[in-house]
Amino acid sequence: MHDVAVVGGGPAGSHVAGRLVKLGYDVAVLERKQYLSEPVCCTGIISRECTTTFAIDEDLIFRWANGARIISPSGEVVKLWRPEPQAAIVDRVSFNISLASRAQGRGARYLMGTQVRAVKVQDDRVVIEAGCDGEPLSIEARVAVIATGFSLGFVEGLGLGRISDSVPGIQVEVAAPTIDDVEVYCGREVAPGFFGWLVPTSPGRALVGLLARRSLGTYLEKLMSSLEAQGKIMAANSEPMHWGIPLKPLPKTYGQRLMVVGTAAGQVKPTTGGGIYYGLLCADIAADHLDRALAADDLSARSLARYEREWKKKLGRELRVGYWARKVYERLNDGQIEKIFDIMQSSGILEDLLKDEDLSFDWHGGVVSRVFNYRVFLKTIAAMNLPTGLIKRLTSWGRGGG
Ligand SMILES: Cc1cc2nc3c(=O)[nH]c(=O)nc-3n(C[C@H](O)[C@H](O)[C@H](O)COP(=O)(O)OP(=O)(O)OC[C@H]3O[C@@H](n4cnc5c(N)ncnc54)[C@H](O)[C@@H]3O)c2cc1C
Repeated sequence: MHDVAVVGGGPAGSHVAGRLVKLGYDVAVLERKQYLSEPVCCTGIISRECTTTFAIDEDLIFRWANGARIISPSGEVVKLWRPEPQAAIVDRVSFNISLASRAQGRGARYLMGTQVRAVKVQDDRVVIEAGCDGEPLSIEARVAVIATGFSLGFVEGLGLGRISDSVPGIQVEVAAPTIDDVEVYCGREVAPGFFGWLVPTSPGRALVGLLARRSLGTYLEKLMSSLEAQGKIMAANSEPMHWGIPLKPLPKTYGQRLMVVGTAAGQVKPTTGGGIYYGLLCADIAADHLDRALAADDLSARSLARYEREWKKKLGRELRVGYWARKVYERLNDGQIEKIFDIMQSSGILEDLLKDEDLSFDWHGGVVSRVFNYRVFLKTIAAMNLPTGLIKRLTSWGRGGG
């Protein structure tokens, strides 16, 4: 019997596996992909903070970004830029491989092409039922870590509740010989309630994508036609890929002999959909708590509950504030988005934020609170006829609530 069975060999799963195997535990990772070199539907933008915290190898980074050009519905460009790099664009496939190789190098056993169907918790073990090459496979471990990414049905089957809000995303790789800046496109014609992006990766290539609750393919075609017409991109290099992003966390991320980490747990920034950094942070917290629980041989729900308390202490407010900020943004029409662009620039809010050391790519709760502290901003939002419940929350953020 293994000490730990990790279901899912993405960044969160491989990081937990790597940490635990280093501590001396016997870890198996069950991954449904045959090869980790299979494409991943992700843009691969992570903060500089993430690269430092997790010692991300420079070789995995396509390029650094000092900021982004944000484009309003009418085409007005706001350049968010700082003298030092703010984010790295990583080669997402190599990133997965590197984390898995790190874990394997330390002794984790990867079972590739293994699709887990059920996780059965017994008093003294978990039994994981999977299929590999068409054959049934059963694995036993003292505890299971679920790191299956966006997998609503699978996670719901664990009996820990369900992720109640999520959004699909779509992305395609294109030829883009002249693009150097990250561009973010706002407006209901581009990606209603969300945003589209053009992100340069390796020389001459870029990713074009967007999040939207419906008609992803149509919006992507429209965005690509517009970028082609502007001469920013040329032909698509591949078929579009789509995948989902949770916007709210799973109600419960632990159970007896069970932990859920990363995107499977909804540990994702609801503002941007970025899930790599939060997933890795929570994978660290999970590994710390599992170490203690395995050593004490106490894998009860009560013991593993500490993992959830800890990750919520770190991210809970971020996720709540980010979600409500997202709900506000989703209700805005193009005129209102333009108005916010105007206010942010004309009243100096943007300039102040860019000077502020605390403005962070990863921690949006503080930024939202700061912005709502500007009376002019609050007044502008208050005049937008948003539901009173939302306005109340906004006002409380301005006062530091969450
Ligand atoms: C279009 C798009 C763009 C994105 N861009 C960014 C970005 O720029 N920056 C960022 O931080 N985040 C981004 N994200 C989110 C990011 O991709 C995820 O948050 C991140 O991959 C989560 O890592 P994870 O390890 O939790 O899950 P995943 O990376 O999804 O890994 C889960 C693994 O589990 C495996 N698996 C699933 N079910 C089973 C099963 N039943 N049995 C066995 N194996 C299974 C999968 O094959 C997969 O390898 C984006 C998402 C989308 C959709």
